[in-house]
Amino acid sequence: MDNCIFCKIVKGEIPSSKVYEDENVLAFKDIKPVAPVHIIIIPKQHIANVNELTPETAPLLGDIHLAAKKIAEDLGIAKEGYRLINNCGENAGQTVFHLHYHLIGGVKLGVSII
Ligand code: AMP
Ligand code: ZN
Repeated sequence: MDNCIFCKIVKGEIPSSKVYEDENVLAFKDIKPVAPVHIIIIPKQHIANVNELTPETAPLLGDIHLAAKKIAEDLGIAKEGYRLINNCGENAGQTVFHLHYHLIGGVKLGVSII
């Protein structure tokens, strides 16, 4: 997708602070972190959001979760815990329409999910 910020990051056209990469997945530091650890995890393939998933692309969610597990271990927050958040669509406040998960941790998060 020509106008997608995260596709541009995948292609190396705009810089990012990469923390993890494999064949299907890329992860980088959020540009406006809301916690000591705030990582964006994306499929390299452009998928706008969960609404656009298909049976063919759904296995990427497994890849993303395995990446989240490894990143949390590497950053030393696996044991204490963290939150994985996906915003889908306008009411959820999605601003970048390339599927992504926020991995947030390094601090005691509130008990409320919103
Ligand atoms: P969402 O509201 O779920 O769509 O969140 C999009 C996230 O992407 C926000 O937390 C932004 O701070 C983050 N973001 C936007 N542009 C960049 C960028 N160039 N590099 C890293 N993170 C970004
Ligand atoms: Zn994209």
